[in-house]
Amino acid sequence: MTIPIPRIAVPDCWLSNVDWVEQYLTTRLSRGRATVVGHSTHGRPVHLVEYPDDHTETRLMIVGGTHGHEPGTVASAINLLSLLEEGVDLDGREHPELLAALDRVHLFVVPLLNPDGRAVCPDTFHAQGVDTCTIYASGLQRDGSLVPYDADSLEPCYYFDPADAIFVGGQFNGAGWAINRRLSDEHSEAVEVQALLDAVRGLELEAVLDLHACGYNFLMQARSHPAPYWECAREWQRRAAPIFAGKGRQLGALNGDADPPRPPPFFFNSILFHRQAHLGWLAFEGRQGYLGRPGFMPLPSLWEIVDDYLTAVRVFLEVGADGWFARANRATFGAR
Ligand SMILES: [Zn+2]
Repeated sequence: MTIPIPRIAVPDCWLSNVDWVEQYLTTRLSRGRATVVGHSTHGRPVHLVEYPDDHTETRLMIVGGTHGHEPGTVASAINLLSLLEEGVDLDGREHPELLAALDRVHLFVVPLLNPDGRAVCPDTFHAQGVDTCTIYASGLQRDGSLVPYDADSLEPCYYFDPADAIFVGGQFNGAGWAINRRLSDEHSEAVEVQALLDAVRGLELEAVLDLHACGYNFLMQARSHPAPYWECAREWQRRAAPIFAGKGRQLGALNGDADPPRPPPFFFNSILFHRQAHLGWLAFEGRQGYLGRPGFMPLPSLWEIVDDYLTAVRVFLEVGADGWFARANRATFGAR
């Protein structure tokens, strides 16, 4: 049994599904150097796009599409590529401060880390309820109940056999491994994540901004990162707050900021990449545009959701270009 995925009409700026991403990356890039770092369980390529800059030591990465049920992260990564390629986003709008920040860094973009997870979810959850998204995030067991992803459990689900499911959702890769949750801090069972880690080891990145979506705008500090990185996240928050406020957009408090922060009892991709590739890691949780709770209001437009992600990226690049991550990496790992 297969579940038909609803096709929902979206504007051009919301370039979020697997086929559109593939088409964009194979036909629209002229400045960026695209490589395939590996393939998903079901054989879909995982792309890395590089924008070299010989005038800076600051090497940063943006990752979209870790979770398949978070399409805005993919759309925002492609809008970022559009800015780099065309000077405008996919809605034709200029972002002069972001373009100036892009000029100061050597950038790597992974628009869609988990294409198998993206392929089982609709192109948008805009103006839908969070419970609809939960079905696509988790997937369905054969009896129609949710795959028990257990987002808040201390003993969460790391793996669910796709043979026991109608489909496994966007939290998983095609083989049934939770894409952002590890049993080990040395490697990932998800081939997409491991392929990216293998590629990143040689890139000397200073930091990664991992784009996610849970309904609200806020930055997540990787709680398992040591103290030198906490100030990087706080600096991001200091700079981002007035920009979001100036646009009339909500921005939550820095999540995971405590002294000392308490890490979860298992491993996320953040700590895997931090320990194996010696870099900083921040995650930004953007909006989905849900209905159903006062907290989800006002309902943003799809472009406003993209614009919020691009603001998060801009501040990340500025903090990186000003040396915050380089200093934290040196304090933690010593000179390269
Ligand atoms: Zn996510």
